[in-house]
Amino acid sequence: MPLQPDPSYVGRFAPSPTGPLHFGSFVAAIASWLDARAAGGRWLLRMEDLDRPRVKSEAADRILAQFDAAGLHWDGEVSWQSRRLDLYREALERLASMEATYWCACTRKEIADSAITPDGAGVYAGTCRGGFARGKSPRAIRVRTKAEAIAFVDRLQGPVEQSVEREVGDFVVFRADNTFAYQLAVVVDDAEQGITDVVRGADLIDSTPRQIHLQRLLGLPAPRYLHVPVAVTAAGEKLSKQKDAAEGSSRDLRAALAFLGHAAPADVADGDLLLWARGAWDPSAIPRRRTISVNAAARSP
Ligand code: GLU
Repeated sequence: MPLQPDPSYVGRFAPSPTGPLHFGSFVAAIASWLDARAAGGRWLLRMEDLDRPRVKSEAADRILAQFDAAGLHWDGEVSWQSRRLDLYREALERLASMEATYWCACTRKEIADSAITPDGAGVYAGTCRGGFARGKSPRAIRVRTKAEAIAFVDRLQGPVEQSVEREVGDFVVFRADNTFAYQLAVVVDDAEQGITDVVRGADLIDSTPRQIHLQRLLGLPAPRYLHVPVAVTAAGEKLSKQKDAAEGSSRDLRAALAFLGHAAPADVADGDLLLWARGAWDPSAIPRRRTISVNAAARSP
């Protein structure tokens, strides 16, 4: 079903400026823009630049150039997570005052041997929940999780359920390198910016229950979620930001639309692609899958 107009809609795209957008993140950006614009809503751009060791100084400019080339326009100023640290600190203090968090002294190596979570990290066994052993030093701050499942209905993927305690464990909200963790920052920002709809790649769907857990602790509203399939190589591997960088050209745009189940008829001129797609946008036409493999040829018109 095509979307009903909803002027209260506020969407966002939140790239990490660690390199240019690859074809998969370009697809997610297009989906997020189209969903917002088809609803007649706003669309914000937020640079998730907290992960200092991975951020590259020229990457944000490259991403903005990709948007310009594709004709994707955002509303208002670009926001930068690195300039919003007070908001994250405040949220962390609130969690601490509720005794929802604790200091963890475990090293990466100590955790690495445990079971593997959906996103490939170890399930944290709760070793430091009741305090850490004498002689060890505090490294990171974790939030306590609960065994009962957190459920939500993804607008594309349908019902999702996860016991965060069993499948992920108490997770890090403040990292050992003195950085606010993505899970905390994203929840604070989505609420503070009044985001009603998150449209992003399905590689983040397993993070969503963690984000809902934090929203509930902090008394923040949960946005609606739509996780689009992620483009992977024929071997099922992630695309590379460098090797598979998108240009934002009309060729990329046509390929992204086709990937999203919205192949543009050949008589739609390059300059009209976004306008056409905005009118044709129907989220139920997106393939209901978490990954789709593409190769260089598939990304050509
Ligand atoms: N910054 C994250 C990334 O680029 C996306 C965050 C989000 O959309 O929630 O993978």
